[in-house]
Amino acid sequence: MSLAERLDALLPQTQCTKCGYAACRPYAEAMAAGEAPANRCPPGGEEGAARLAALLGRPALPLDPAVGPWRPPQVAVIDEATCIGCVKCIAACPVDAIVGASKRLHTVIAAWCTGCELCLPPCPVDCIALAPAPRLPEAGDSRARHDWRAIRLARDEAERVARLERYE
Ligand code: SF4
Ligand code: SF4
Ligand code: SF4
Repeated sequence: MSLAERLDALLPQTQCTKCGYAACRPYAEAMAAGEAPANRCPPGGEEGAARLAALLGRPALPLDPAVGPWRPPQVAVIDEATCIGCVKCIAACPVDAIVGASKRLHTVIAAWCTGCELCLPPCPVDCIALAPAPRLPEAGDSRARHDWRAIRLARDEAERVARLERYE
């Protein structure tokens, strides 16, 4: 297993981007390349930062205040009476934890939600709130959902380009 893979295995896989990278894996790769410090993952907290530093053979540092504090696990909850079915939250969710269809109410699959908060800003009617969760989803499951989403988006884009080329 590469160093990046071992670092990625220590990350909580919320895919929240709070580290400043697009997902957990790019942050792991930046740490492995010596380009990122080990204290920029708020969901991992101080313990996570210490584990990353130990693997890198660096001294443990407190969480960087610039990335925000550690928070207990949380889950998104949609007020279904207010939801207008605009689909924007689905597009934002990095782990496919929201189900719904255009103009239909949307709901969160609580067991899959990592509490990443990425669905909140796009919601035009502000009907998504965060509630305490007992724990984060299992990291390997969240990674798999994130990876599958990336494959699906790439496939959709390739199909879109192919369609456009047919009409040129
Ligand atoms: S959990 Fe969030 S902050 Fe931590 S590495 Fe993954 S994307 Fe970055
Ligand atoms: S439902 Fe919202 S908070 Fe939960 S994983 Fe998806 S984007 Fe993140
Ligand atoms: S972004 Fe808000 S209004 Fe739009 S579908 Fe999601 S929860 Fe409903």
